Amino acid sequence: MKCNIFRITNVQFVQKRFFKKLQVRVRFAPSPTGFLHIGSLRTALYNYLFARANDGSFILRIEDTDQSRCIPGAIEKIENDLLWAGIIPDEDPLRGGPVGPYLQSKRLEIYQEHVLKLINNQSAYYCFCTENRLQLLKREALKCGQVPKYDNRCRHLSDDEVKQKLKKGDPYCIRFKLSSEIECFDDIIYGKIEHDIGSREGDPIIIKGDGYPTYHFANVVDDHLMGISHVLRGIEWQVSTPKHIMMYKAFNWTPPVYGHLPLILNPNGTKLSKRQNDINIEYFRKEGIFPLALLNYVIHAGGGFDNRGGAHYINSYEELIKQFNISKIKVASNKLSPPKLLEFNKIEMSKLLANEKNNKFLVERVRNLVMEAYSERKIDGSLHLDDHHIITILKWAQTRISKLSDLISPEMSFIWIIPATSEDKVHSEYSDAFKILNNKLLEIDTEHFHKSWMNSYLKQFAAEHSIPYATFMKHLRFILSGLKEGPPVAEMIEILGKDTTLFRINHYIS
Ligand SMILES: [Zn+2]
Repeated sequence: MKCNIFRITNVQFVQKRFFKKLQVRVRFAPSPTGFLHIGSLRTALYNYLFARANDGSFILRIEDTDQSRCIPGAIEKIENDLLWAGIIPDEDPLRGGPVGPYLQSKRLEIYQEHVLKLINNQSAYYCFCTENRLQLLKREALKCGQVPKYDNRCRHLSDDEVKQKLKKGDPYCIRFKLSSEIECFDDIIYGKIEHDIGSREGDPIIIKGDGYPTYHFANVVDDHLMGISHVLRGIEWQVSTPKHIMMYKAFNWTPPVYGHLPLILNPNGTKLSKRQNDINIEYFRKEGIFPLALLNYVIHAGGGFDNRGGAHYINSYEELIKQFNISKIKVASNKLSPPKLLEFNKIEMSKLLANEKNNKFLVERVRNLVMEAYSERKIDGSLHLDDHHIITILKWAQTRISKLSDLISPEMSFIWIIPATSEDKVHSEYSDAFKILNNKLLEIDTEHFHKSWMNSYLKQFAAEHSIPYATFMKHLRFILSGLKEGPPVAEMIEILGKDTTLFRINHYIS
């Protein structure tokens, strides 16, 4: 514990020094090889909050140098998802900025120019090893039970040998000379980190055979040229950080402050997998999860706040920025808790509904959801999807549902579509009673179509016609909704309104 406190004080000291000297500039640098998921959203969010909390800049850079793995449309999708989440970059490929381009595939000349600097100062070298030779090395190592690594053979080629091979047009890649000294660094989240990379890895490739840079090289060059002050990224990169710091030193540049974010885990403790559909931002959007609920869900797992206002409180963007404290990020791996997401979403829905300004977008969301869900089926002809009606339904539903997609669940679909009643399901001995009920309701004022009035009216009606009340309600519920169980019948009548109620009873008796 003592060590931990020291770490935090030390980190804060480093931070203070840094903030005075430099403007805070952070980046989120996804590859367009897939869509944004909850793990990458977390990285983007923490970078964004760190920038906003320190009056800094948040930059979106797209790392698309592995062209074979890029998915068409992924860049636009990432930008859209960030926009939806309210994580808005100050500089990005779309808007541009002072240190662009922000797409790595448009920066190839910059990498070429910089790799020559490393070759000239002997920090990097041409490697002419064939794929065959590398495979052989790998097989030999595995046979001896060792971890395969490049044996750095081409480090030792003379200048003349290199010149000759280049002249002959031999294919090559460029490798960086790892230092044999152990490179320690202060991780702003994990504290002092030591990885003896030189003894475990061969010299890494920095420019591939096709002329494209690898991640290790491009991220160093870009972070430096883009003035990145702090790199906050996933823990999987921590082991490579000493390598990146060695490259900064080879260029004679000052490295940024590094902080690595622990893994976010499934509730059962397993790693999130790209094949899981239920972690994509797209999935949450479609389910009718609100952005702030999703962000609160992420930080509930990841920590990083002085005071979140309690377990059942949802923070606004302003509060998230104000309360963000990087030294409070949880170091242990963090499990997601889906029930918490639903709880946050419910709170957020009530908050949104309480402010009329939000009605327009809420109505639009629900209308699209309903139209999409029932496009194949006939939307109840008597039901208008007008703004007032949708808001009434949302207000009624807010204590019953936790996400907008619940509005189109089988239990709620009666709100939108004619239930699939068939006459044999309702006892025909009551047909006459329902015909009478239909005529009576027709004469009743619209304003009486609320649950308390309707409740006593239906009780009285059942008594007058000598039908057991429970049986009568069971049939009426089925006629109105096709459901055997569900909300109280008088309440259903209230939310359906006079026209729809009569339309459905009519549909049954005709
Ligand atoms: Zn080689």
